[in-house]
Amino acid sequence: MKQYYIDVIIPIPLKKLFTYSITASEADFLKPGMRVAVPFGKSKIYTSIVYEIHNNAPVAYDAKDIHQILDETPIVNAKQLELWQWIANYYMCTMGDVMRAALPSGFILESETVITKRSIAPIDESILEDDEFLIYEALHHQSSLKVHDVVNILDKKNVLPVIKRLIEKEAISVEEEVYEKYKPKLVRYVKLHNEYASNEALQVLLDDLSRAPKQRDVVLTLFSLSAKTKKPVKVAELAHESQASNSIIKALIDKGILEAYFIQKDRVEYLGENTETTKHLNSYQEQALAEVKTAFKSHSVTLLHGVTSSGKTEVYVKLIEDVLSQGKQVLYLLPEIALTAQLITRLQNYFGEQVAIFHSKYSTNERVEVWNNVLNNSNKAQIVLGARSSIFLPFNDLGLIIVDEEHEQSFKQFDPAPRYHARDTSIVLANIHKAKALLGSATPSLESYFNAQQNKYGFVELMYRYNNVLMPDIELVDINEKQKKKRMKGHFSDRLIEEMTETLKEGHQIILFQNRRGFSPIVECKTCGHAPQCTNCDVSLTYHQYRQQLRCHYCGYHAVMIKTCEACGSPEIDSKGFGTEQIEEEVKALFTEYKVARMDLDTTRGKYGYEKIITALEQQDIDILVGTQMLTKGLDFRNVKLVGIMNADNMLNFPDFRAHERSFQLMLQVSGRAGRTQERGKVLIQTYNPHHNILQQVSTNNYIDMFQEQMNDRYNFKYPPVYKQIKITLKHKDYNRVETASNWYAKSLRQVFRGFVLGPEAPPIARIRNQFHKNILIKIPKQQSLAKTKEAIIKINNSFLNVKDFRSVKVILNVDNF
Ligand code: ADP
Ligand code: ZN
Ligand code: ZN
Repeated sequence: MKQYYIDVIIPIPLKKLFTYSITASEADFLKPGMRVAVPFGKSKIYTSIVYEIHNNAPVAYDAKDIHQILDETPIVNAKQLELWQWIANYYMCTMGDVMRAALPSGFILESETVITKRSIAPIDESILEDDEFLIYEALHHQSSLKVHDVVNILDKKNVLPVIKRLIEKEAISVEEEVYEKYKPKLVRYVKLHNEYASNEALQVLLDDLSRAPKQRDVVLTLFSLSAKTKKPVKVAELAHESQASNSIIKALIDKGILEAYFIQKDRVEYLGENTETTKHLNSYQEQALAEVKTAFKSHSVTLLHGVTSSGKTEVYVKLIEDVLSQGKQVLYLLPEIALTAQLITRLQNYFGEQVAIFHSKYSTNERVEVWNNVLNNSNKAQIVLGARSSIFLPFNDLGLIIVDEEHEQSFKQFDPAPRYHARDTSIVLANIHKAKALLGSATPSLESYFNAQQNKYGFVELMYRYNNVLMPDIELVDINEKQKKKRMKGHFSDRLIEEMTETLKEGHQIILFQNRRGFSPIVECKTCGHAPQCTNCDVSLTYHQYRQQLRCHYCGYHAVMIKTCEACGSPEIDSKGFGTEQIEEEVKALFTEYKVARMDLDTTRGKYGYEKIITALEQQDIDILVGTQMLTKGLDFRNVKLVGIMNADNMLNFPDFRAHERSFQLMLQVSGRAGRTQERGKVLIQTYNPHHNILQQVSTNNYIDMFQEQMNDRYNFKYPPVYKQIKITLKHKDYNRVETASNWYAKSLRQVFRGFVLGPEAPPIARIRNQFHKNILIKIPKQQSLAKTKEAIIKINNSFLNVKDFRSVKVILNVDNF
């Protein structure tokens, strides 16, 4: 009799697919991409994905029977399985790793899964079958259950289908750590106080204000605005229409003439208002659009190099319209942090409910919803606007992928596996769908620009800002000299203070940028120089003034701030350093009558911290915003006129071969936040090293010079994009073990790759979470086969794992580790 088997992907790192035995009728019913519950090991149950159905019994073991089929139709399509396979091969990880990253956790029920009752309104219990009811009941007495609890309650093995049905009936949900629902935006509105509702009262008021003409103007403008639109008037709108500064409006509110209030505005759900027609492109945009279309005829990937505020988004929008009219789907990829309400709203205004959003702030339920909409090619998901992981959605007919801010490092996943780069993977995804990919940036990554130069990618430039807004004027301030001449107040040069004073006087806003890296405020004893260290990692703890804590940024260890030195007992502790917190303090002391806020990991960690700060800046409730990297991403603030970069040197000196490229990108992106309207923006960069080539290139916005100079270095030192790179990290809690292991590993690699192996070397922070690290780097010349290189590494890795002493050493392979 013929036997039937399936190969399945199990969401754990197994080298091979696992084979199970099925019946003839199951073989008839099953299709690749369906979920099947399978037993694994002694007592575990996993949700697996069918990869292949066949008649070949496994050789090394007896195939077990499956527990249960979980789907009627595939939830993963053939194109996705092809992509998963590519990722597993290219990034040297298992299909299980890819599956875990690709599927919303709501799809992966397993023995470790914890289920809870859904907190929303109780459901109609009559829809529950008996076994479902039992579980639902149990959750009234116990806040959560694991799968094996369910097994015990029902006294049967195959419980995943019951759980799955309960989820579908919205009776229970899968517990997760991050549950953050997208937050409605609070918009600030203003109205005339009720006291002045009658015409007489208003007349009296206007007479009273005759000696304050600016205030009088504001009141009149508000009056005519409400009459005209018959809608609530936003504070921002009033300020814009009346050309009044925020302080005038504030004065009126303080006097009780105007009243401010908030209305909730939903950011995610599209409310079904009429969609706008898309904008009319100017001639530069028109030309860029035509060039992109031409480039697509010969290249499936095209790079659009367009300066900040040139209107790249509007060009994308036209391309999207085209693709939609052919009945195809669009994926619009953005770094997580650039996925702002501003952009979401902009696209929803054009495309209405066809836009679906996918990012990490979504709960698994919401992700499953988007997943299903994409899978069913629903009208609600013709355009997916998403972060890194949206490349995993079940598209069936993609026509276009846009990768905006393609230079952004956050497209690369560093941990855990798959260590994929979403931009590079999206190009493979586009090829699978025979779709086009457009990479956009004002400061392209060297690798993309290099590919364009090599004619591997098409290339289009958009070098003029929309409406001919001038590029900001960038000035370098030599803080070395300023210090000698005693013209620094704390971290502020006299030039910066001058410009800030001027800007604030004119009623404009300011952004101050402080690089996050390398500038953690460290606590040091003034007497003996001792700095408190993390107990698990080789790093000094950083001081968080706000919570009066010392924290480790690597493992989360924290302790209360010390009062005396742990080493010598001296009470003189210097909490120097130069974090955003310190800058914020100094600004507050310098500009007492202005509103200062801070945007960094600490202030945005809270549920909606990031959104709140952005809204406040938009609404002009903040005069000066101090922030880190987060500020650089695709935000459009009309009233920001001055950007101050507090210190350029720590970016430039960062020990990484991309430090110069990144500094250039970062500084130009932050500069792009200044003066996005008719008034020319100003950027001040404080540095000890104003003659540094990168700073010269930033101040003249000279991408080409930067590119050529950096490429020279990359050739000379054999770095990407000239060479490819694979990094191998070994970790173990015993220092000697990792030392011996990494020497063995590097020696074996050298036998094959000779001089192209670097290390083993301890990274700058050699111990993290009590694990010692060693890195080995392999440089791969372009003409060397990448596939063969990986084969050789895998062979060495396998022999490594066969050495008994090394089995407990953790090995991490990272392809394109930059
Ligand atoms: P980029 O993405 O290149 O930084 P944006 O697409 O955000 O630039 O455009 C900058 C600003 O110019 C936005 O406020 C946008 O609405 C406006 N803009 C761009 N193109 C047009 C156009 N063709 N018509 C009207 N406004 C435009
Ligand atoms: Zn001391
Ligand atoms: Zn630590």
